[in-house]
Amino acid sequence: MFDSGVSFESFPAIGNDVSESRPTMFSDLAPSVIRQRTLKSAISCTGVGLHSGCKMTMTLRPAAANTGILFRRIDIAGDGSVIPALWSNVSDTRLNTSVSGAKGASVHTIEHLMAALAGMGIDNAIIDINGPEVPVMDGSAAPFLFLIECAGIVEQQAPRQAIKILKRVVTKDGDKRAMLTPGRSFSLRVEIDFPMDAIGRQECFLPMNSAAFKAEVSRARTFGFEQEVAAMHAAGLGKGGSLDNAVVIASGGEKVLNEGGLRYVDEFVRHKTLDAVGDLALAGAPILGHFHGVRCGHALNNRLLRDLFSDRTAWTMVELGNQQTTAPAMFSAPQRLAVAASA
Ligand SMILES: [Zn+2]
Repeated sequence: MFDSGVSFESFPAIGNDVSESRPTMFSDLAPSVIRQRTLKSAISCTGVGLHSGCKMTMTLRPAAANTGILFRRIDIAGDGSVIPALWSNVSDTRLNTSVSGAKGASVHTIEHLMAALAGMGIDNAIIDINGPEVPVMDGSAAPFLFLIECAGIVEQQAPRQAIKILKRVVTKDGDKRAMLTPGRSFSLRVEIDFPMDAIGRQECFLPMNSAAFKAEVSRARTFGFEQEVAAMHAAGLGKGGSLDNAVVIASGGEKVLNEGGLRYVDEFVRHKTLDAVGDLALAGAPILGHFHGVRCGHALNNRLLRDLFSDRTAWTMVELGNQQTTAPAMFSAPQRLAVAASA
């Protein structure tokens, strides 16, 4: 477990909102205008898609200022192959986040790549891909971070714009909840509660900056349950899944099947946080505000953005200064945990 030097005992019970009780976390701000960023050079990788099982090659390319993140299906001819990575283009949220363009072309499982781009502060990039799904790599964002670091990052002339949250927006679905509240920087608090001993209740607070993202959540892998594999395959999902790209919880729920164990003792909530970073990156610009997710997933994260943008009084665009915070990330000690971490 990470020792941030901050006691986690101060967190209230699951589901309680503490977003407005943290102003002192952001006292270290030094506003100054910052510029948009893109990749210095193009870089490629090849891998299998988690759900399609297809082998695909993907190339991350630099893009002009104000382009945003664009997917381009290079196996499809014409301008219908271009799909902006935006919340309004999300077309499927079943165990992944997919986007579709106006003419029907889709790219699936974009969330870990989107998280890596957001985590590294990349505003503009074109993602060429020769098939329908982003390669899953090892199931985390770390391989994409590595690609971005290898390609290099350059600043552009245009200042970075951000979406400033002006009032609380809450989206609910049964006992699941996702919320955005005003804040002077982007931070996330995610809570999960699974009945299996291998997961239990876990909680994470992440101040969103590149160093925290890289150290605390980028290596957390996607996860699934052994007893759900057959149903996933029947639904046409998870065909490329394996112990090389996902943590699999055994049928009894008390242990993981992966030989190496977990990368973080609370890898599950860290992955849910990574997913939220990726899903919220589909806002189209960095968020200035606090996200709080309780048992949230791709569907709820996207609904939250739809609810946000449907209320014109809930947000405004601002030129982003240096609002990153050095507040430490915090994690709960997972409860009812029966699996020892491998590292
Ligand atoms: Zn994920």
